[in-house]
Amino acid sequence: AAAGAAVVPAALNAQSGATSPVTKGKEKATFVSLARNVDLWSLVESIRQVEDRFNKNFHYDWVFLNDGDFDDEFKRVTTALVSGTTHYGKIEPEQWGFPDWIDKEKAAKVREEMRENKIIYGDSISYRHMCRYESGFFFRHPLLADFEWYWRVEPGIRIYCDIEQDLFTWMRENNKKYSFTVSLPEYKETIMTLWDTTKAFMKEYPQYIDENNMMDFISDDGGETYNGCHFWSNFEIASLSFWRSDAYLKYFEYLDKAGGFFYERWGDAPVHSIAAALFLPRDQIHFFEDVGYYHVPFHNCPADEKVRLAKNCVCNPNEDFTWRGYSCVPKYYKVNDLKRPNGWENYT
Ligand code: GDP
Ligand code: MN
Repeated sequence: AAAGAAVVPAALNAQSGATSPVTKGKEKATFVSLARNVDLWSLVESIRQVEDRFNKNFHYDWVFLNDGDFDDEFKRVTTALVSGTTHYGKIEPEQWGFPDWIDKEKAAKVREEMRENKIIYGDSISYRHMCRYESGFFFRHPLLADFEWYWRVEPGIRIYCDIEQDLFTWMRENNKKYSFTVSLPEYKETIMTLWDTTKAFMKEYPQYIDENNMMDFISDDGGETYNGCHFWSNFEIASLSFWRSDAYLKYFEYLDKAGGFFYERWGDAPVHSIAAALFLPRDQIHFFEDVGYYHVPFHNCPADEKVRLAKNCVCNPNEDFTWRGYSCVPKYYKVNDLKRPNGWENYT
């Protein structure tokens, strides 16, 4: 499927509109979606919106990753929708399984306890493999080797507004390495020892902590405790070389050896977020205020009506989560001394 797409310029496809000139996006960038065959129809909705709002003008590639094999229907349907070249990859079993240092009985006991305590995904093995893979391995997949930037897309998301600009170019030109659209505190029960493990790492590897880090976003007491604030990783536009850096690779390895992906239920979102906040200079982390976005159950709907009208947004600002009490975005604006968008006070 990918080979076929490569020889037919996307803009000459009937679906893409025969009159638009072929101007392929110029960054070494790709979309990436982790999915199963059963995710096809909810992923299709995401793809259509990303294409209509953004990628129809840029034709970036799309990498699909799976711990199993994608079937022909999955490949056919997604290749028809994506205006760039599609690639389908299988995850190596070592990256989607229990490492040999994990005590499987201990891990099973934890899942049982979490099931009784009704912790979301607490009893799931596959969810843990997913979180560990998104934390430590997706950026090492051979299909991503030639890329420098990625945009993560999950099934069932919505993109609410037009995105006229090439966000990958924008990231590069503005020297950003990580970006997000939603931020909130993680469930404490899923990350009981994540912060202690991180503190031990910082002590052992102080050279990796950027002097201009964003510790004040993730900790309210100078690093003693974690406040849980994290960037929601179901949307990420970020630099792959950040995850491939010594600092992050060492950090992931340290966390992986500690076992919390299995003995607790560490999510890739807090892991990515803590790493970005500690290893990057704070001005390299960006909040995309104007990218209207939804992943169940939270909406990011631009507060400024001028923006919503100019970008043809279809979201209801009354549903916006950004400025509400539980959101961590207000803290992000505060610690970085940023000016809030016009109208934010109407949607708190
Ligand atoms: P949530 O957003 O935290 O509720 O988790 P999701 O169910 O959306 O999973 C996160 C991402 O991983 C999505 O892109 C899913 O399609 C993908 N995913 C989750 N579990 C699996 C799995 O077992 N296999 C594969 N291949 N993908 C998975
Ligand atoms: Mn999801």
